[in-house]
Amino acid sequence: TPNLKVDDLHVSIEDKEILKGFGIEINGGEIHAIMGPNGTGKSTLASALMGHPNYEITKGNATFNGEDLLEMEVDERAQAGLFLAMQYPSEVSGVTNADFIRSAINSGREEGDEISLMKFIRHMDDKMGKLEIDSSFQHRYLNEGFSGGEKKRNEILQMLMLEPKIAILDEIDSGLDIDALKVVAQGVNDMRSDDFGCLIITHYQRLLNYVTPDKVHVMMQGRIVKSGGPELAERLEAEGYDWIKNELGIED
Ligand code: ADP
Ligand code: MG
Ligand code: MG
Repeated sequence: TPNLKVDDLHVSIEDKEILKGFGIEINGGEIHAIMGPNGTGKSTLASALMGHPNYEITKGNATFNGEDLLEMEVDERAQAGLFLAMQYPSEVSGVTNADFIRSAINSGREEGDEISLMKFIRHMDDKMGKLEIDSSFQHRYLNEGFSGGEKKRNEILQMLMLEPKIAILDEIDSGLDIDALKVVAQGVNDMRSDDFGCLIITHYQRLLNYVTPDKVHVMMQGRIVKSGGPELAERLEAEGYDWIKNELGIED
């Protein structure tokens, strides 16, 4: 089964240390949630794991299915089955949604083993229907002019189409109304299997009402400071973060 293991990760942006000893292990079949205040390094973690060049790893290790993740090129990480739904998905003019997803699927396959156009279209129609995305979106340029909620659904569409081994969903719930939130949650729940692990990064507990995490981690100042079960998310929603800061003697 899939495995993502991060140990004592330190990451700097422009010589400022953002991640300060971050560690986590996610196996297939598990859904983990990370909650934490703004600016604590959650998106930095996601970008660093995907290999974004602006993020300098100064210390620590990460392995994906036993391989050294930090030595892998960005496209190798994706092809190995690591997926990131970005907090702020980019708009790409001139590339349609369908083209983008189809080439992403095929880049993970051997020559001669590419997905047939018919099969791709059927598969995409099916997933778009599930996510209640209008079929015209296939032919629109990637995220161009999409609303916030449409971009988030589109990230989940990519996940369902690419069938990654481990997915990192960075604030996939932000800007969604309750109906869209349920649709997105259903997409994640449909992926649940022993062959899939997920890291949900979120500010709010409400998505976790629909996708029950196995573990909830609190992130502050660049590392995980507390872990627990779903009840931890509920307490954070009710009481905020101050009690944890007090407990740990953290000042901000
Ligand atoms: P979170 O996702 O938890 O809100 P981020 O990872 O986005 O936090 O940001 C963590 C810290 O890194 C913040 O202090 C932010 O200002 C800083 N930061 C993030 N991205 C950049 C960047 N590209 N250049 C400089 N500083 C950045
Ligand atoms: Mg933020
Ligand atoms: Mg963020």
